Amino acid sequence: MNYDRILIRYGELSLKGKNRKLFIDKLKKNIKRVLRDFENIQIEASRERMFILLNGNDGSEIVNRLKSIFGIQSFSPAVKVEKDLEKMKETALALFQKNYKPGQTFKITTKRSDKNFFMRTNEINHTFGSHLLQNVEGLKVNVKNPDVNLLIEVRHEAAYMTCETIQGAGGLPIGSSGKAMLMLSGGIDSPVAGYLSMKRGLNIEAVHFYSPPFTSERSKQKVIDLTEKLAQISGGVTLHIVPFTEIQQLIQQTIPENYSMTTTRRLMLRITDEIRKKRDGLAIITGESLGQVASQTLESMYAINDVTNTPIIRPLITMDKTEIIDIACDIDTFDISNRPYEDCCTVFVPSSPKTKPRRDKVRHFESNTDYEPLIARAVENVEKIRIKPQSSKQELFEDLF
Ligand code: ATP
Ligand code: MG
Repeated sequence: MNYDRILIRYGELSLKGKNRKLFIDKLKKNIKRVLRDFENIQIEASRERMFILLNGNDGSEIVNRLKSIFGIQSFSPAVKVEKDLEKMKETALALFQKNYKPGQTFKITTKRSDKNFFMRTNEINHTFGSHLLQNVEGLKVNVKNPDVNLLIEVRHEAAYMTCETIQGAGGLPIGSSGKAMLMLSGGIDSPVAGYLSMKRGLNIEAVHFYSPPFTSERSKQKVIDLTEKLAQISGGVTLHIVPFTEIQQLIQQTIPENYSMTTTRRLMLRITDEIRKKRDGLAIITGESLGQVASQTLESMYAINDVTNTPIIRPLITMDKTEIIDIACDIDTFDISNRPYEDCCTVFVPSSPKTKPRRDKVRHFESNTDYEPLIARAVENVEKIRIKPQSSKQELFEDLF
């Protein structure tokens, strides 16, 4: 008895009405994209479950890829059986024999969503448990900590059986929450912020400010490589590279040194907001974490945020650096972020930036300069790159199939 499909359980089951349909459609599309190189697999979606019909394809590689798709709570390689007791018993036994090694313990778990099925949950557990005990020599039940848990889902259209439940990535399908612009530096934090936003269903485009010749090609490459890691997860990310030298030089000349950081951030935000408008995004994401550096005090955020009322999403705001680094390692961006090349902010960093800048003051300092033409020029000269994922990850689930 071989698994012939993969049964997918959705996350966030509380979603209702239209949202739920949007969620399922997006998830289906995302799965299709990730599995596009598998010929003749079929994806069937219903309100409660999604099924990938393997049609002879290699299930282990499919399982492996499903693990990183947001919007999946858990999934199981499974077999479909007609709701006929004898056929169900036969299938349960065959499936169990394939997945069990002598000496192991087991239990049966039943999910009965078809309330018209003639047996109740406990009765099903009991019937199938007895059937296995009668037919497999030396078999023992262990309800608390079984080696093999045979799960029987009795649904409206059929029953499904599996001995394996694999944890999904959780979250919401990418794209189901809309689009936002990620302010991506070469640092550790912003790629993590991008990842967490995608996990919550956002489709992201990245915006990076660079200041040649003060920042090198290698620091630009670093950001491209980081974007590629994010593209690996979403299937593709557009990166906007903004030339920022002219503006930074003007800031040096026009703003008192201890406020130059605040103004730099304000202008980055204004430019990002312009790009957002052009790209139909509805929010801006940053890698800010409260109190981490001078520009990330609450006073600083208050002074910087002054330039827009677009929602600013700060997924890392309450996280410690160690927690952020753990995620950066998981998503494989840490080593890239740690490359030593300079960032436009580190080049122009003032010796003592104000940790408590004031809105009225920064407004006053900026009021002598008309930044609009520079902002327009920066937006006009943005270099837009569409970054695609490279290769898929290695196989880990060969033994299941
Ligand atoms: P990161 O690790 O993401 O660089 P950080 O702790 O170094 O963050 P800052 O350098 O103060 O913090 O930057 C705060 C946020 O501002 C970043 O997380 C990022 O979202 C944005 N940002 C900073 N520099 C740039 C840049 N050159 N291009 C685009 N966004 C930037
Ligand atoms: Mg930084």
